[in-house]
Amino acid sequence: MFDDLKGRRVLITGSTQGIGLAAAQAFARHGAKIGINGRKAPADLDATLQAMESAGGEAAFFAGDLCSSAACKAVVDAFVERFGGIDVLINNAGGLVGRKPLEEIDDEFFDAVTDLNARSALMTTKHALPHLRQSAKDSGQTASVILVGSVAGYTGGGPGAGLYGAAKAWLHNIQKNWVAFHTKEGIRFNTVSPGTFDTAFHADKDEAAKARVSTGIPMGRFGKPEECAPTFLFFASHGCSGYITGQVLDVNGGQFMP
Ligand code: NAD
Repeated sequence: MFDDLKGRRVLITGSTQGIGLAAAQAFARHGAKIGINGRKAPADLDATLQAMESAGGEAAFFAGDLCSSAACKAVVDAFVERFGGIDVLINNAGGLVGRKPLEEIDDEFFDAVTDLNARSALMTTKHALPHLRQSAKDSGQTASVILVGSVAGYTGGGPGAGLYGAAKAWLHNIQKNWVAFHTKEGIRFNTVSPGTFDTAFHADKDEAAKARVSTGIPMGRFGKPEECAPTFLFFASHGCSGYITGQVLDVNGGQFMP
C-alpha cells in the first residue's frame, strides 16, 4: 500500500521519542530515508538508528532546537546535505512547555510556546520549500508537508494550555494559505491532529488523572504512538493521498468530532 515510500527522503522534526519516533519507525519499515531531530541526541540514539536500518530504512540524526529559526534552517540544510533533497517534511516538534492560566502568561512564556509550536513549523517549512519544489519537479509527483495539530486546536486546550491550543489552531489554519499559494508547485499540505496519546506529553498526569481523561474518550483509553504513525505514511504517499491537500485528519478515538 505504501510502496512508493521506499527511498523517499523524510525529515521528521521532534522525533527522538513519542509520536515522532513511532512515525520514523514506520517510515523505516517502508524503506524510507529518515531524518530524526531533537534538541540533543538521546542516550539510545545508536540503537534507535540501527533498529531503523535493520527494519529496511536509512536514518540519521540532526540535532537542533527548532525554537530558533537559524536551527530550523541548519537542520534542513544538514538533512539535504546528507540525503540530497527532501520529499516529505513532518513538522512534529511541539509541546505544552508548561501550563499557565491567562493571568500568569508573560512574554517569555508566550515566546516559548509559540516558538516551539508555530515558529518551528513555519520556519522549517520555509527553508524546506525549495527542496520540496525540486522533489515535485524531479519526480513528477507531489511532495508532502505534514503538520501536527491537536484536538486542543479545536477545543482551546485544557487548564493553562490556552496558548498551546491557539498555536495548534494556528497550524490548522496556516496550511490553508500554503495550499492556496504552493499547490501549483506540486506540494501538498495536510495536518495530523492527535487526540490524547500516551507519551511524555502527559508526564504531568498520574494514573488516576489518565483514567479520568480516558472516560471522556469514546474508545476509553489514550492512543498509542504507533496508532498515529499510519496517518503520516498516508499523507506522505503520493499513491495514497496525491489528490488530498489542506485537510486535517483527526486521530483521537472519538474524543472530538469536528
Ligand atoms: P513528546 O514530548 O514525547 O515528543 C516531543 C518531541 O519533540 C521529542 O522528540 C522532543 O525531543 C522534541 N522536541 C521538543 N522540543 C523541541 C525543540 N525545541 N526542538 C526540536 N525538537 C524538540 O510528545 P508527543 O506526544 O510525541 O508530541 C508530538 C507532537 O504531537 C507534538 O507536536 C504535540 O504537540 C502533538 N500532540 C500530542 C498529543 C498527545 O496527547 N501526546 C496530543 C495532540 C498533539
